[in-house]
Amino acid sequence: MPFPAQAADMHVHSHFSVDSQATIEAMCRAAIDLGLKALCFAEHMDLNPNDEGYGFFRYQAYSQAIDEARERFADRLTILKGVEFGEPHLYPREVERMNGQDLDVILAGIHWIDDRFVGDLALHQAYGARQDPRRLFERYYQDMLRAVRHGGFDVLAHLDLPKRYLGHGCEEIPLIDEVLREVVRAGMALEINTSPLRKGVNACAPDAPLLRRYASVGGRRLTLGSDAHAPNEIATGFERAMELALTAGPGDVGIYRRRCFIRLDAEESLV
Ligand SMILES: [Zn+2]
Ligand SMILES: [Zn+2]
Repeated sequence: MPFPAQAADMHVHSHFSVDSQATIEAMCRAAIDLGLKALCFAEHMDLNPNDEGYGFFRYQAYSQAIDEARERFADRLTILKGVEFGEPHLYPREVERMNGQDLDVILAGIHWIDDRFVGDLALHQAYGARQDPRRLFERYYQDMLRAVRHGGFDVLAHLDLPKRYLGHGCEEIPLIDEVLREVVRAGMALEINTSPLRKGVNACAPDAPLLRRYASVGGRRLTLGSDAHAPNEIATGFERAMELALTAGPGDVGIYRRRCFIRLDAEESLV
Protein backbone atom coordinates (compact mmCIF):
# COMPACT_ATOMS: atom_id res chain seq x y z
CA MET A 1 0.00 0.00 0.00
CA PRO A 2 1.47 3.40 -0.89
CA PHE A 3 1.90 5.81 1.97
CA PRO A 4 -0.07 9.03 2.05
CA ALA A 5 2.27 11.74 0.86
CA GLN A 6 1.68 13.84 3.96
CA ALA A 7 3.34 11.12 6.04
CA ALA A 8 6.72 12.83 5.84
CA ASP A 9 7.62 16.10 7.54
CA MET A 10 10.68 17.30 5.64
CA HIS A 11 11.58 20.31 7.77
CA VAL A 12 11.94 20.16 11.55
CA HIS A 13 14.51 21.46 14.02
CA SER A 14 16.02 20.10 17.23
CA HIS A 15 18.36 21.56 19.84
CA PHE A 16 21.12 21.38 17.25
CA SER A 17 19.47 24.60 16.06
CA VAL A 18 19.85 27.59 18.38
CA ASP A 19 16.11 28.32 18.48
CA SER A 20 14.90 24.86 19.56
CA GLN A 21 15.08 22.99 22.88
CA ALA A 22 13.74 19.71 21.53
CA THR A 23 15.83 16.56 21.55
CA ILE A 24 16.02 14.47 18.41
CA GLU A 25 14.54 11.59 20.39
CA ALA A 26 11.50 13.63 21.50
CA MET A 27 10.89 14.80 17.93
CA CYS A 28 11.10 11.22 16.64
CA ARG A 29 8.72 9.91 19.30
CA ALA A 30 6.17 12.60 18.45
CA ALA A 31 6.44 11.76 14.74
CA ILE A 32 5.86 8.07 15.48
CA ASP A 33 2.82 8.93 17.66
CA LEU A 34 1.40 10.90 14.71
CA GLY A 35 1.91 7.93 12.41
CA LEU A 36 4.48 9.65 10.18
CA LYS A 37 6.72 7.45 8.08
CA ALA A 38 9.61 9.86 7.73
CA LEU A 39 10.98 12.85 9.61
CA CYS A 40 13.68 15.11 8.26
CA PHE A 41 15.80 17.31 10.50
CA ALA A 42 16.89 20.53 8.81
CA GLU A 43 19.14 22.24 11.33
CA HIS A 44 20.04 25.88 10.85
CA MET A 45 23.26 26.75 9.09
CA ASP A 46 23.05 30.50 9.45
CA LEU A 47 26.34 32.21 8.80
CA ASN A 48 25.35 35.85 9.12
CA PRO A 49 27.44 37.10 12.08
CA ASN A 50 24.38 38.92 13.45
CA ASP A 51 22.34 35.71 13.62
CA GLU A 52 21.84 34.32 17.13
CA GLY A 53 22.78 30.93 15.69
CA TYR A 54 26.06 32.08 14.19
CA GLY A 55 28.70 29.43 14.91
CA PHE A 56 26.21 27.30 16.84
CA PHE A 57 25.80 24.29 14.56
CA ARG A 58 28.02 21.25 15.24
CA TYR A 59 27.88 18.78 12.40
CA GLN A 60 29.70 15.88 14.06
CA ALA A 61 27.58 15.88 17.21
CA TYR A 62 24.42 16.23 15.11
CA SER A 63 25.42 13.38 12.85
CA GLN A 64 26.12 11.15 15.83
CA ALA A 65 22.73 11.96 17.40
CA ILE A 66 21.00 11.07 14.12
CA ASP A 67 22.87 7.75 14.01
CA GLU A 68 21.75 6.97 17.56
CA ALA A 69 18.13 7.85 16.79
CA ARG A 70 18.22 5.70 13.65
CA GLU A 71 19.35 2.76 15.75
CA ARG A 72 16.70 3.33 18.37
CA PHE A 73 13.76 3.89 16.01
CA ALA A 74 14.91 1.84 13.02
CA ASP A 75 11.75 -0.22 12.70
CA ARG A 76 9.32 2.65 13.27
CA LEU A 77 10.52 5.79 11.49
CA THR A 78 12.75 6.79 8.60
CA ILE A 79 14.97 9.54 9.97
CA LEU A 80 16.50 11.88 7.42
CA LYS A 81 19.52 14.08 8.04
CA GLY A 82 19.45 17.56 6.57
CA VAL A 83 20.45 21.15 7.09
CA GLU A 84 18.72 24.44 6.30
CA PHE A 85 21.20 26.84 4.78
CA GLY A 86 20.58 30.59 4.97
CA GLU A 87 21.70 32.73 1.99
CA PRO A 88 23.87 30.03 0.35
CA HIS A 89 25.06 32.42 -2.38
CA LEU A 90 26.97 34.43 0.25
CA TYR A 91 28.86 31.45 1.68
CA PRO A 92 30.05 29.33 -1.25
CA ARG A 93 32.86 27.61 0.65
CA GLU A 94 30.58 26.44 3.45
CA VAL A 95 27.97 25.28 0.92
CA GLU A 96 30.65 23.23 -0.78
CA ARG A 97 31.75 21.79 2.54
CA MET A 98 28.19 20.76 3.41
CA ASN A 99 27.85 19.14 -0.01
CA GLY A 100 30.75 16.91 0.95
CA GLN A 101 28.92 15.62 4.04
CA ASP A 102 26.74 12.56 4.25
CA LEU A 103 23.36 14.34 4.18
CA ASP A 104 19.96 13.29 2.85
CA VAL A 105 18.99 16.81 1.89
CA ILE A 106 20.08 20.44 1.94
CA LEU A 107 17.33 23.03 2.23
CA ALA A 108 18.02 26.69 1.62
CA GLY A 109 16.14 29.86 2.33
CA ILE A 110 16.57 33.58 2.70
CA HIS A 111 16.47 34.66 6.35
CA TRP A 112 18.48 37.88 6.05
CA ILE A 113 18.37 40.76 3.59
CA ASP A 114 20.47 43.94 3.86
CA ASP A 115 22.08 42.32 6.92
CA ARG A 116 18.73 42.34 8.73
CA PHE A 117 16.50 39.42 9.66
CA VAL A 118 13.39 39.33 7.43
CA GLY A 119 11.16 39.53 10.51
CA ASP A 120 12.91 42.68 11.78
CA LEU A 121 10.50 45.59 12.24
CA ALA A 122 13.20 48.13 11.40
CA LEU A 123 13.69 46.39 8.06
CA HIS A 124 9.95 46.53 7.38
CA GLN A 125 9.95 50.23 8.24
CA ALA A 126 12.95 50.92 6.00
CA TYR A 127 10.97 49.48 3.08
CA GLY A 128 7.62 50.97 4.11
CA ALA A 129 6.35 47.40 4.07
CA ARG A 130 3.33 48.05 6.28
CA GLN A 131 1.92 50.45 3.71
CA ASP A 132 3.10 48.57 0.63
CA PRO A 133 5.05 45.31 0.88
CA ARG A 134 6.19 45.24 -2.76
CA ARG A 135 9.63 46.82 -2.34
CA LEU A 136 10.50 44.51 0.54
CA PHE A 137 9.40 41.39 -1.37
CA GLU A 138 11.15 42.60 -4.53
CA ARG A 139 14.41 42.94 -2.59
CA TYR A 140 13.87 39.56 -0.94
CA TYR A 141 13.32 37.78 -4.27
CA GLN A 142 16.44 39.39 -5.75
CA ASP A 143 18.48 37.57 -3.09
CA MET A 144 16.46 34.40 -3.50
CA LEU A 145 17.21 34.39 -7.22
CA ARG A 146 20.92 34.71 -6.44
CA ALA A 147 20.65 31.80 -3.98
CA VAL A 148 18.89 29.50 -6.47
CA ARG A 149 21.32 30.44 -9.26
CA HIS A 150 24.20 29.66 -6.93
CA GLY A 151 22.72 26.23 -6.18
CA GLY A 152 24.29 23.57 -4.00
CA PHE A 153 20.99 22.64 -2.37
CA ASP A 154 17.92 20.49 -3.05
CA VAL A 155 14.85 22.24 -1.62
CA LEU A 156 13.91 25.90 -1.68
CA ALA A 157 12.37 26.50 1.75
CA HIS A 158 9.48 28.87 2.57
CA LEU A 159 9.33 30.73 -0.75
CA ASP A 160 7.51 33.80 0.61
CA LEU A 161 8.76 33.78 4.20
CA PRO A 162 8.21 37.52 4.93
CA LYS A 163 4.47 36.76 5.04
CA ARG A 164 5.10 34.96 8.35
CA TYR A 165 6.02 38.33 9.86
CA LEU A 166 3.93 40.75 7.78
CA GLY A 167 0.77 38.67 8.02
CA HIS A 168 0.30 38.42 4.27
CA GLY A 169 2.20 37.66 1.11
CA CYS A 170 2.72 39.72 -2.02
CA GLU A 171 2.21 37.98 -5.32
CA GLU A 172 2.60 40.89 -7.76
CA ILE A 173 6.35 40.48 -8.17
CA PRO A 174 7.37 39.33 -11.67
CA LEU A 175 10.74 38.16 -10.30
CA ILE A 176 8.97 35.26 -8.56
CA ASP A 177 8.48 33.53 -11.91
CA GLU A 178 12.21 33.75 -12.61
CA VAL A 179 12.95 32.22 -9.19
CA LEU A 180 10.50 29.40 -9.90
CA ARG A 181 11.91 28.77 -13.38
CA GLU A 182 15.41 28.51 -11.90
CA VAL A 183 14.13 26.03 -9.29
CA VAL A 184 12.80 23.88 -12.14
CA ARG A 185 15.97 24.26 -14.22
CA ALA A 186 18.11 23.20 -11.26
CA GLY A 187 15.91 20.16 -10.57
CA MET A 188 15.16 21.41 -7.06
CA ALA A 189 11.95 20.91 -5.10
CA LEU A 190 9.76 23.67 -3.71
CA GLU A 191 8.68 23.37 -0.10
CA ILE A 192 5.18 24.05 1.20
CA ASN A 193 5.97 25.40 4.65
CA THR A 194 3.06 25.38 7.10
CA SER A 195 4.65 27.52 9.84
CA PRO A 196 2.74 30.75 9.00
CA LEU A 197 -0.46 28.94 10.07
CA ARG A 198 0.96 28.68 13.59
CA LYS A 199 1.70 32.42 13.58
CA GLY A 200 -1.92 33.31 12.90
CA VAL A 201 -1.43 33.83 9.16
CA ASN A 202 -4.11 32.08 7.16
CA ALA A 203 -1.75 30.75 4.48
CA CYS A 204 1.14 28.39 3.88
CA ALA A 205 4.42 29.62 2.40
CA PRO A 206 3.79 29.43 -0.49
CA ASP A 207 0.02 29.14 -0.86
CA ALA A 208 -2.24 28.54 -3.87
CA PRO A 209 -1.37 31.51 -6.14
CA LEU A 210 2.39 30.86 -6.14
CA LEU A 211 1.95 27.09 -6.31
CA ARG A 212 -0.11 27.61 -9.47
CA ARG A 213 2.71 29.71 -10.90
CA TYR A 214 5.23 27.00 -10.00
CA ALA A 215 3.12 24.42 -11.85
CA SER A 216 2.71 26.77 -14.81
CA VAL A 217 6.49 27.11 -15.30
CA GLY A 218 6.86 23.33 -15.27
CA GLY A 219 7.49 22.75 -11.56
CA ARG A 220 6.74 19.24 -10.35
CA ARG A 221 8.62 18.48 -7.16
CA LEU A 222 7.18 19.46 -3.78
CA THR A 223 8.05 18.71 -0.17
CA LEU A 224 5.96 19.43 2.93
CA GLY A 225 7.59 21.01 5.97
CA SER A 226 6.16 22.21 9.26
CA ASP A 227 9.35 24.00 10.38
CA ALA A 228 8.55 22.54 13.80
CA HIS A 229 10.86 23.62 16.59
CA ALA A 230 8.98 21.54 19.20
CA PRO A 231 7.36 18.09 19.16
CA ASN A 232 3.79 19.42 19.23
CA GLU A 233 4.40 21.43 16.03
CA ILE A 234 5.31 18.46 13.84
CA ALA A 235 3.14 18.08 10.72
CA THR A 236 0.76 20.85 11.78
CA GLY A 237 -1.35 22.10 8.87
CA PHE A 238 -0.43 19.12 6.69
CA GLU A 239 -4.01 18.39 5.58
CA ARG A 240 -4.14 21.87 4.15
CA ALA A 241 -0.65 21.64 2.63
CA MET A 242 -1.53 18.35 0.96
CA GLU A 243 -4.73 19.77 -0.44
CA LEU A 244 -2.76 22.73 -1.81
CA ALA A 245 -0.20 20.39 -3.36
CA LEU A 246 -2.91 18.46 -5.15
CA THR A 247 -5.26 21.27 -6.16
CA ALA A 248 -3.00 24.26 -6.86
CA GLY A 249 0.41 22.67 -7.09
CA PRO A 250 1.75 19.99 -9.38
CA GLY A 251 1.15 17.24 -6.85
CA ASP A 252 4.45 15.32 -6.86
CA VAL A 253 5.02 15.34 -3.12
CA GLY A 254 8.12 13.53 -2.01
CA ILE A 255 11.14 13.22 0.17
CA TYR A 256 14.87 13.45 -0.33
CA ARG A 257 17.02 10.55 0.64
CA ARG A 258 20.76 10.62 -0.01
CA ARG A 259 20.14 13.77 -2.05
CA CYS A 260 17.64 12.06 -4.39
CA PHE A 261 14.00 13.05 -4.76
CA ILE A 262 11.57 10.18 -4.30
CA ARG A 263 7.82 10.57 -4.75
CA LEU A 264 6.40 9.47 -1.46
CA ASP A 265 3.53 7.49 -2.94
CA ALA A 266 6.12 5.55 -4.94
CA GLU A 267 8.42 4.91 -1.99
CA GLU A 268 8.31 1.30 -0.83
CA SER A 269 11.26 1.28 1.50
CA LEU A 270 10.09 3.57 4.27
CA VAL A 271 9.30 1.82 7.52
ZN1 LIG B 1 13.88 28.99 7.66
ZN1 LIG C 1 13.50 26.01 9.54
